[in-house]
Amino acid sequence: MLKNDHLDEWDRENFFHPSTHLAEFARGNIPQRVVTGGKNCHIEDRDGNRFLDAFSGLYCVNVGYGRQEIADAIATQAHQLAYYHSYVGHGTEASITLAKMILDRAPDHMSKVYFGLSGSDANETNIKLVWYYNNVLDRPKKKKIISRWRGYHGSGLMTGSLTGLKLFHNKFDLPLSQVIHTEAPYYYRRDNLDQSEAEFVAHCVNALEELIDREGADTIAAFIGEPALGTGGLVPPPEGYWPAIQAVLDKNDILLIADEVVTGFGRLGTMFGSEHYGMKPDIITIAKGLTSAYAPLSGSIVSEKFWKVLEEGTDKIGPIGHGWTYSAHPIAAAAGVANLKLIDELKLVQNASEIGAYFKKALNEAIGEHINVGDVRGDGLLCAVEFVQDRDSRTYFEADKKVSYALNAALLNRGVISRAMPEGDILGFAPPFCLTQKEADEIAAKLQDSIAEVLG
Ligand code: PMP
Repeated sequence: MLKNDHLDEWDRENFFHPSTHLAEFARGNIPQRVVTGGKNCHIEDRDGNRFLDAFSGLYCVNVGYGRQEIADAIATQAHQLAYYHSYVGHGTEASITLAKMILDRAPDHMSKVYFGLSGSDANETNIKLVWYYNNVLDRPKKKKIISRWRGYHGSGLMTGSLTGLKLFHNKFDLPLSQVIHTEAPYYYRRDNLDQSEAEFVAHCVNALEELIDREGADTIAAFIGEPALGTGGLVPPPEGYWPAIQAVLDKNDILLIADEVVTGFGRLGTMFGSEHYGMKPDIITIAKGLTSAYAPLSGSIVSEKFWKVLEEGTDKIGPIGHGWTYSAHPIAAAAGVANLKLIDELKLVQNASEIGAYFKKALNEAIGEHINVGDVRGDGLLCAVEFVQDRDSRTYFEADKKVSYALNAALLNRGVISRAMPEGDILGFAPPFCLTQKEADEIAAKLQDSIAEVLG
């Protein structure tokens, strides 16, 4: 298929793969896959294998693979103007149009968008801006950031610290001292199984209040959270969680950053997760779904209240000293414009809502009663199945059994890509928004077969 038959060798000799067990890869124990093409919900590899990608790459190819409209927009922009920067008042038709399209879709109180390249750098930008904001307001002590255990916010120094998963801290000297973690709103894994959802929310709120009292509200700048936890286990929040958290933050003058890198632009069946769960953020992080990963692009959408302080800061201090060469890159912005148009034209947010509900029902029907299926959960097209040794006590399998990895491999053998999440025996599903009922049924049926093979 491909002309170059040295790819395996070159790959092993030269390519430092992210998030990979490097020694196992070098020993040849991790299969190499060279991906060559994709159409709608499927990808294809160099050996001609076709897979139904039920995780949209890294939950980012939201409109599906092979969209001609986006490819054309990228090509046209590359021919016309591949690059110009966006410093000191410069822009392009694509970047200015995209900023307007984003604000047209964002909650009403949002005001401006700062463009980056990845979810990680957008969150790094957010924390810098939050510190700047409190310095302009003459509150130099108010700098700590609260994040949740199991949250995922990126792999940079600050964002890796915000991420509440040990794997991303181990041996990297993280987390940095300005970051403090609080409880994850993970109702299924609550300590006290007798707790109602409302009691569990009260428990999370108490934990947050205690943390704020202990540290001092005058030292805490912001709280960052994904509307629904992503990499930490794909967990929608319990009913009433966000309004209750928001009330505590408002009372203590702590900003809220909604990390919508996964949920932004439709994954939960609404344009933003903030509106889905009743959050009123000061900053919203966007990335993946902004271009459906046809080009790297992210953004920080800031509220009018926040923006006013940034403006005031530049009057006092001078131009804002924060910029990336590739901010608002015209080719990525053109991809973003075409992507958001396509989402509207094909009513893909509505489809994510409808097919998401259908998919969850199909999963429940196919596997919901299995003795090792503890929880089938999700909103829109962000779903997970959590596996347990025992359903009543919710005991974990022994870690070395690596149940979710075995299930993930069994499913892959049947031509379906899921994701074994890094903590717990959790399989994640986040298919493209163009998923059909037939494909949803296929994933559910093949998962049923995979469970029968691995767990009996
Ligand atoms: N925030 C969230 C919620 C994410 O899921 C991710 C990536 N999975 C990031 C931030 C980081 O984005 P990136 O990998 O583009 O840096």
